Amino acid sequence: MLVLEQRANLGHKVCGEFISWEAQSTLQRLGLLAGVHAARPASLARAVLTSRSGVAAGFDLARGSWGLSRKSLDTAIADAAQAAGAELSMGVRVQRFDQVNGGYTIEARSNGRIIEIRCRALIAACGRSSSSELPPRSQAAPESGLVGIKRHYKNVSMPPQVELYFFEGGYIGLAPIEGGIVNLCLLASRKALEGAEKDPAGLIEALAGRIPGIGNRLAGGEPIEASLLAAAPVDLWRKADPWDSVACVGDAAAMIPPLAGDGIAAALRSVELCAPLAHAYLSGDLTLERWRQAYRSRWHASFDRPLALTRRLETWLGSAVGSNLLLGVGSILPPVARRLAGMTRSRANSAPPFMT
Ligand SMILES: Cc1cc2nc3c(=O)[nH]c(=O)nc-3n(C[C@H](O)[C@H](O)[C@H](O)COP(=O)(O)OP(=O)(O)OC[C@H]3O[C@@H](n4cnc5c(N)ncnc54)[C@H](O)[C@@H]3O)c2cc1C
Repeated sequence: MLVLEQRANLGHKVCGEFISWEAQSTLQRLGLLAGVHAARPASLARAVLTSRSGVAAGFDLARGSWGLSRKSLDTAIADAAQAAGAELSMGVRVQRFDQVNGGYTIEARSNGRIIEIRCRALIAACGRSSSSELPPRSQAAPESGLVGIKRHYKNVSMPPQVELYFFEGGYIGLAPIEGGIVNLCLLASRKALEGAEKDPAGLIEALAGRIPGIGNRLAGGEPIEASLLAAAPVDLWRKADPWDSVACVGDAAAMIPPLAGDGIAAALRSVELCAPLAHAYLSGDLTLERWRQAYRSRWHASFDRPLALTRRLETWLGSAVGSNLLLGVGSILPPVARRLAGMTRSRANSAPPFMT
């Protein structure tokens, strides 16, 4: 197996770095949990959501979640893939592919040169946006999408919990990760960020000034400059499509709104659904058409409901009235909030992780 990655190395990624119990469960089934756990994730026991007018709802993360930087998570997964025999080619950007004689020709750019690669099966795992030649093709216009920003901090004191604060047009979260570091991540519309400082650090400072919960946590915190990153456009509303000329896994198939903290779990789960079918196809036990049909139906059975609910929650929590109402109910009845959070999870995550 050949994995092509456009980045030269596995560094930081814009992400809340919240590893849900469901992600851990899938990592375990894929034989990856011990390697990820070796990176010493922070344990997260609670989630606290605060509306723009300050209504807060907290609930226990019943089965335990982790905070772990994407750098550590992606490195652990890449190491395991290579140990299992996969070849990882870094700094190779796929530009297009064509279907030819029962296989594919991939055109990619590496070190300023165009290279061509032939393969029998191809899986698109290129995340939420790539190029017009690759899935996912229907991308938001840059000005209509959302903007994601993340930064790590030292010396921020906070309990083992993930905190989300909503503001007009977006939300911002904090969570401890490995090594006593706290990750800050935000997602907001361009409009919501208008008028604030134009650079990502200025935006964070402006929000810390507006949102007391963030300001209080970050007071005395020391930003880790190398971790500051922005990503745009983030299109949460693109139509789900697990097979767009080729099998698509993770965000390439659909993007679970980040507030559910389940995108990593969904990406891993879609791989778990797709890989055995790809193997059966390569072994001659399935036609390409049967692979396509089986993957599509398993993907939709797993993700349609949680995706629809999470998108609805994203809309409700994004509105002033909706977030006060939902978080008001959640603050009085934490089991309701916990149940709602549970319903945003994809199906078939039953095996408990062996370590939490
Ligand atoms: C602001 C924000 C916060 C989030 N917070 C969380 C969270 O706390 N918890 C959670 O579970 N999920 C979270 N998510 C979602 C999560 O990040 C994604 O769902 C997850 O990363 C999807 O994994 P993926 O492998 O599909 O895509 P990615 O992680 O984006 O990986 C795709 C890879 O493909 C590479 N690539 C792209 N195009 C090409 C190309 N043409 N050629 C070669 N390589 C290419 C990219 O460089 C990248 O490394 C968040 C998302 C955002 C935007």
